[in-house]
Amino acid sequence: MPRYDAPVRDMRFILNEVLNIHSYNNLPGFSDLSEDLVDAILNEGAKFTKEVLHPLNVVGDNQGVVRNSDGSVKTPDGFPEAYKAMTEGGWTTLSANPEFGGQGLPHVLDVAVSEMMSSANMAFAMYPGLTHGAASAIEAGGSQEQKETYLPKMVSGEWAGTMNLTEPHCGTDLGMMKTKAVPQADGTYKISGQKIWISGGENDFTDNIIHLVLAKIEGAPEGIKGVSLFIVPKFILDADGNPGERNACGCGGLEEKMGIHGNATCVMNYDGATGYLVGEPNKGMRTMFVMMNAARLGVGLQGLAQSEISYQNAVDFAKDRLQSRSVSGPKAPDKPADPVIVHPDVRRMLMDQKAFNEGARAFAYWTMLQNDLEHRSEDEAVREKAGDYMGLLTPIVKAFLTDKGLQGCIDAQQIHGGSGFTKEWGMEQFVRDCRIALIYEGTNGVQALDLVGRKLPSKGGRAIMAFNAELDAFIAENDSEDMKLYVDGLKATKAQLQEATMWLMQNGMTNPDNAAAASHDYLHIFGYTTFAYMWARMAKIALEKKDSGDGFYAEKLATGRYFVTRMLPDVAAHLAKVKTGAEPLFLLEESQF
Ligand SMILES: Cc1cc2nc3c(=O)[nH]c(=O)nc-3n(C[C@H](O)[C@H](O)[C@H](O)COP(=O)(O)OP(=O)(O)OC[C@H]3O[C@@H](n4cnc5c(N)ncnc54)[C@H](O)[C@@H]3O)c2cc1C
Repeated sequence: MPRYDAPVRDMRFILNEVLNIHSYNNLPGFSDLSEDLVDAILNEGAKFTKEVLHPLNVVGDNQGVVRNSDGSVKTPDGFPEAYKAMTEGGWTTLSANPEFGGQGLPHVLDVAVSEMMSSANMAFAMYPGLTHGAASAIEAGGSQEQKETYLPKMVSGEWAGTMNLTEPHCGTDLGMMKTKAVPQADGTYKISGQKIWISGGENDFTDNIIHLVLAKIEGAPEGIKGVSLFIVPKFILDADGNPGERNACGCGGLEEKMGIHGNATCVMNYDGATGYLVGEPNKGMRTMFVMMNAARLGVGLQGLAQSEISYQNAVDFAKDRLQSRSVSGPKAPDKPADPVIVHPDVRRMLMDQKAFNEGARAFAYWTMLQNDLEHRSEDEAVREKAGDYMGLLTPIVKAFLTDKGLQGCIDAQQIHGGSGFTKEWGMEQFVRDCRIALIYEGTNGVQALDLVGRKLPSKGGRAIMAFNAELDAFIAENDSEDMKLYVDGLKATKAQLQEATMWLMQNGMTNPDNAAAASHDYLHIFGYTTFAYMWARMAKIALEKKDSGDGFYAEKLATGRYFVTRMLPDVAAHLAKVKTGAEPLFLLEESQF
């Protein structure tokens, strides 16, 4: 069975040294954050995920979720007990609002625990992940009464939350939604329709499930402008606020799927279920986007998390498996062959993964820090910049980390040779589980369109201008001999990003197909640029501490060197593809495919 050990040292490095989260101790939630507390949370999180969640990963994959004839489900053996242990340990409350029972700690710390959970057991981690997203949406758009009614139980984990957008005929294009909401005399609505592929739509470990459902009120405007958001609890609450009568909704079937077998992916039927409007009629997408954005960041993290666990096991295998001699002469002459880690091609795959994982971790955590700044800073300019960054970076976290994360899982599988394809070693599960992350929460193609079509031009390009200015300031401050390699890498990538952005401005406005055709490669150029910045920041700290006697810093510098010299060259290919425009994609008529 594969192993998982949370990369606590690297997490501490990013939180304490690179992001220096203690320097924000004037902000709510950061003030109590001693290094000891950070260590304690990371160490306990590592223990919980290794001992409780990870052993159930294979169990969940093998058993899957079973639906009973009454629509209830049985999750894999051990999931209910693990869920109980998670809630009793307070793991769902870390960054939640203290007004509703949360601990109010920074998201940038919570994200490390989320990464651990997602590495250890992605299917399981989705249950609390979606609850967290649903609670964020209610907190952002719900009435005070709704917040007080639902949030304390969702924060504690006693109740779960789900996200209901997709219908059989509409996934990306939610404007085509058919689910109906009929207003009732008492101010509630009757919700009718079918939602499909609803993650965690049922479970057997919470007392209630709070479904957030998008639907159209009778007579609403056509398309996306007529969509409203509703709270539809599995059990309608009684006068004391406890789960009472069963609502007219439930799991009509479970999907058979490629991976994440331990998560209940449900067809949800709403047959005149009682629903409560969240916010204003026809403005449902605005609030649902709070949940979708939280989920997109969580999905990006899944890409990193699966790449991390598969990497750890690939390293073990590569050191253990003896095959062939090194081309430059035996490295383990006392053994019948050398371990495969001596072979350059195996090294290439390991280094690609290691440089990706560490860059992705820094990037995801830095993005989460922006989330904290957006909501906690007292300085309006800081809040505004952080909010702009969140908009710009979310599609990149989602799509770049999952595109590359899946490639990491495939590389780790490849390192295992035939053992990677067979079930016994567990590597194929990581590939299967990770695969969905490129699809749900808006496919990666749709993320790229969002970046190019909406986020980039938003507010006159204010976000990318601020990002470029931040990189320029870093480059100016760090243009030293020691930093040359990393800063030159950043400079070159930033120039390529600017060239791609300029090309989009000149060619995408007149012909939108050009912008759409460029979007995937543009998103990747942007992803590499953020990583180049993160690697330069990590190298700066590592250089300062390289003589400390801790080999961690020399290792960091070497991995950063690999990133700059072996991974950044891919940006040139992406730029060349951006500049071809849409024409090569439309050379053939539809009939010629
Ligand atoms: C396991 C699983 C769990 C899920 N969980 C949930 C959940 O909890 N809640 C929920 O509401 N949904 C959920 N989904 C649904 C998921 O979010 C959708 O599958 C996803 O958004 C894509 O929609 P679709 O499958 O209808 O693809 P389609 O929209 O049919 O797209 C098909 C293809 O066309 C491309 N495409 C579509 N429009 C464009 C465009 N304008 N430009 C370029 N390309 C385009 C897409 O990128 C894709 O490649 C889940 C799905 C799965 C498989």
